[in-house]
Amino acid sequence: MTDRLLQLANTPWSAPLVRLLGLPQPRPLPRKTAAYTRQELAGRRVLLSALDDTASSDLHTWLQSRGAELNSADGLDLVLLDLRSLGHPAQLGELRARLQAAVPRLSPGARVLVLAPAQASHAQAAAAAAAVEGVVRSLAKEIGRRGATANLLQVPAELDASALAPLVDFLGTARSAYVSGQVLRLQAAPPVTLTFPALQGHTALVTGAAGGIGAATARRLAADGAHVICVDMQAADVPLQRVANEINGQALALDITAPDAPARLVAAAQARGGLDVLVHNAGITRDRTLGRMSASEWDSVLAVNLQSILAIDAALDAAHALRPGVREVCLASISGIAGNAGQTNYAASKAGLIGYVRARATQLQTSGGTINAVAPGFIETAMTQKMPLMVREAGRRLNALKQGGQPEDVAEAIAFLARPDAVAVNGQVLRVCGQSLLGA
Ligand code: NAD
Repeated sequence: MTDRLLQLANTPWSAPLVRLLGLPQPRPLPRKTAAYTRQELAGRRVLLSALDDTASSDLHTWLQSRGAELNSADGLDLVLLDLRSLGHPAQLGELRARLQAAVPRLSPGARVLVLAPAQASHAQAAAAAAAVEGVVRSLAKEIGRRGATANLLQVPAELDASALAPLVDFLGTARSAYVSGQVLRLQAAPPVTLTFPALQGHTALVTGAAGGIGAATARRLAADGAHVICVDMQAADVPLQRVANEINGQALALDITAPDAPARLVAAAQARGGLDVLVHNAGITRDRTLGRMSASEWDSVLAVNLQSILAIDAALDAAHALRPGVREVCLASISGIAGNAGQTNYAASKAGLIGYVRARATQLQTSGGTINAVAPGFIETAMTQKMPLMVREAGRRLNALKQGGQPEDVAEAIAFLARPDAVAVNGQVLRVCGQSLLGA
């Protein structure tokens, strides 16, 4: 879908008019969507700033090994602020000073990534750590107009710096174009060594893969070397086959709510020796205010978006068709976090999924697996194209980046969570919403 305002605000003849009318001025977002490589930070000008330099020496060595340029005197593409030793609100002045020095040097589309402690040993440390959340979320809103982002990682003391690799590869680069103002709480986990291509020899299953976010995800996982089983409705068989052929994957036409769907998916998984990546992406909307919503509008949304996922997982678990170390991702929505008028059914299904993800995380952790929710905001797909014009325009602009995201932005977040070494991220909700004002 074309975003006319994005075009007009960045064309020399129309940009002054957009400014004069006081309209939002979205900036084109630099994006990176190819397969992961060993040198993800090559050519990126990185400032590593730490409260405790000795504690961050591990990060320094690691950043260099990924190709980062660590001594740039001018522009900055990534500011990595290591506050893992933060213990008292009195240290927050130092945070202000460091950010104030770095922010004027940020390049368009730059990243600020802050590391803070995940545990606090006393109330003052907890206050300091929580204060950092306020700083990051606010800074993200300030720098969003430049297409830049800020995000926060809460890091357990015992986590090895190498476990941060997938997080910096994603949140520190143009791969996270539409992720801003987010906080991820990491879990302690043994380091996993990644070989490239990141998903070589892995089998992934993506539901709703015929179009939109699902097709972008299937393509992205295949780019990292995965064999992808692409699932969608029989009615979408033509585009489904096209996506599967394009990526040398396999098409499986079925309705995920059909009684035999779990058994057919188990059979497809077992034929490949089990699944390494499972993406529950298929979803529908049937919007109406609660008073006027029919039982079938309610039931169909709950059936596709929530109940089918629970039934499929139960069947895969019972058949041991998920490999140890599985990476499972469920597509939630910011409507499931903030609620949305006319979407009680949809919000129930997506909020329910978030609850499910949090609970199932503990179960998968025991075999090195993870499950996370990705909550997109306004993404330019067939689903949002159906919205009334004014609602659509509001959805696009009510975020720090003043534009909608692309299916590739969500696919990139899923590819990050699917990495075998992304083991520290479990039971989290990652919003891909440009720091939407909804439920912020
Ligand atoms: P889309 O409508 O473009 O694609 C959804 C796909 O799911 C379609 O190909 C459809 O045929 C398939 N599908 C629907 N019901 C199915 C069923 N019963 N069995 C098998 N396949 C089925 O949607 P999208 O925008 O790409 O959204 C993908 C996911 O992201 C959904 O879960 C959606 O709720 C979520 N999401 C999207 C947005 C957005 O802005 N587009 C925002 C928040 C969340």
